[in-house]
Amino acid sequence: MAKTDSAKKKVLVLGGGFGGVFAAKSLAKRGRDTVDVELVNGTNYFVFQPLLPEVAAGGIHSSDAVVPLRQLLTGVQVRQAEVAGVDFAKKSVIVVQGSSRIPVELTYDELIISLGTTVDLSRFPGLPEHALTMKQVADAHKLRNHVLSCLEMADVATSPAQKRQLLTFVVVGAGFSGVETVGEVNALIHQAVRYYPNVTKDDIRVLLVEYADRILPTFAEDLANYAARRLKLEGIEVITGVGTKSATSTAVELTNGALIPTGTIVATIGNGPRQLVQALGLDMKWGRIQVDREMRVPGLDHVWALGDVALIPLEDEPGDDPQAYAPQTAQFAVREGHQLALNLLASVKGNDKKLKPFAYKSKGSLASLGTTKAVADVYGFKLTGFFAWLLWRGFYLSFIPGFQAKARLLFTWILNAFMPPNLVLIQGNAPATRYIHYRKGDVVFEPGMILDGFYLVLSGKLKLKIDNPDTDEHLVRDLGPGDHVGERMMVRPLLRTGLVEAVEDTEVLFVAKKDFLRFAHDFPVLRKYFEKYIEKNFGGQGKSFAPQGSEQQPEMEKSN
Ligand SMILES: Cc1cc2nc3c(=O)[nH]c(=O)nc-3n(C[C@H](O)[C@H](O)[C@H](O)COP(=O)(O)OP(=O)(O)OC[C@H]3O[C@@H](n4cnc5c(N)ncnc54)[C@H](O)[C@@H]3O)c2cc1C
Repeated sequence: MAKTDSAKKKVLVLGGGFGGVFAAKSLAKRGRDTVDVELVNGTNYFVFQPLLPEVAAGGIHSSDAVVPLRQLLTGVQVRQAEVAGVDFAKKSVIVVQGSSRIPVELTYDELIISLGTTVDLSRFPGLPEHALTMKQVADAHKLRNHVLSCLEMADVATSPAQKRQLLTFVVVGAGFSGVETVGEVNALIHQAVRYYPNVTKDDIRVLLVEYADRILPTFAEDLANYAARRLKLEGIEVITGVGTKSATSTAVELTNGALIPTGTIVATIGNGPRQLVQALGLDMKWGRIQVDREMRVPGLDHVWALGDVALIPLEDEPGDDPQAYAPQTAQFAVREGHQLALNLLASVKGNDKKLKPFAYKSKGSLASLGTTKAVADVYGFKLTGFFAWLLWRGFYLSFIPGFQAKARLLFTWILNAFMPPNLVLIQGNAPATRYIHYRKGDVVFEPGMILDGFYLVLSGKLKLKIDNPDTDEHLVRDLGPGDHVGERMMVRPLLRTGLVEAVEDTEVLFVAKKDFLRFAHDFPVLRKYFEKYIEKNFGGQGKSFAPQGSEQQPEMEKSN
């Protein structure tokens, strides 16, 4: 651990994104003799979020969109740890770190909060469970694998409806990240499709859904219109003025009543505060920490905030006008980092009069549309098409911090310009336990399907139907909150014999087969409960709906 000089003030930076990194870098450079800087981040790398859509499309590797914090921040002590809480009175931060995950207290003289935001989709039923997001490197990875696995499954699908669902991709939200994601993912799919003999371009549907009247609301209208036209030319359906209402694992419902069958929903909406930030007890507005124009947290000495987590006024009386606050962009977070460092150093030296209010005018905006096209508005000059795309690449190449990261990114871009798309599907484990949202009428499972897991009803209602062809008996049962289905896999190892449908919109907790069986067999209380339950409800071994006798394989589907 680095030694600290007791004459120097200890500055603790929480968060290693754009805001935290650029504040720490500036402090280390300008305040070498005044402050010791430590930065705490959950990962040991900085994520260059604007490149995530390219990672999702496989255009670059995930390692090209991240920079190791230790190599990036010379002169700064970096700690990989999870911030768990702040005690402002004691001037200390609790972090959880190391292999033992023991909470540790870190003290500070000055605290900088730059923890960014998280994705909050809780207003949309089913979206938290079924939408993919675009915030972390892991999200981009997951999306890429998901898209490729949809193509793989569509190539062998026998039902046209299932194939259509697998080949429909919906991106929700048409800000920077939504537009760039839909453009890149569409490009990946269209490059990949020729390697899938049973999938044609006409089978594919890619949609961009935006609640506002136009896409890219932060861009000038003519540029946004160009972007919409360009996306449509690439075959993307651009739907504006329509929001997302709800989602299931098989469809997304829009506010205009349209129900789009899809297995892929990417949500780039719903920026919300992290639970930790909400629990700090600070004044919040629109989910962000309220700070003054110098980026100090009012009412607390020696606490500062910047980046997406902070609501930084650009005017003295900003009121409720969102335009009067710094937008949540990387460009602003970087400038805020520099200004905050200067203000903090002035404050530490007792020169409070030298503190400057944050003021910055955007130099412009750039958005890539995939397939070597972009829109750019830089210093008032508007550019579209290929040259805008070159500018986009040049700008982000210069913006990504660190020489190694720049060199690696440039090399990958050049190499990939001459390479076919990489279609390797690295299959991760499906999450064993997860929530699933079903819409009224959805089939949860049907006879002949592989037994994949156990379902616990949390809300709504399911209907279970089992037919016994030998005795012509039928079992019908409603399953409400607290009821469950799938437990018979304890005694039947292979295929489902029952049909389960949602008779209302229903939320279930799904536990994968392997995990359920471990628990149900090895936890005596559970084992007894389920044995009794099966005996009572299905007649036990050798009776009408008994588990044995159902292990025969159903007739195999014809492969295409
Ligand atoms: C897909 C995408 C594309 C974008 N494209 C653009 C673009 O083209 N141009 C542009 O200007 N902006 C763009 N943005 C927005 C830009 O990336 C953000 O405004 C910027 O990242 C905000 O920086 P930040 O430091 O406030 O937060 P973040 O970059 O989110 O950093 C927060 C950091 O805090 C860490 N953290 C959070 N909680 C904890 C905890 N409890 N313990 C430890 N560490 C924690 C996180 O791991 C993270 O490293 C894009 C964003 C996305 C998601």
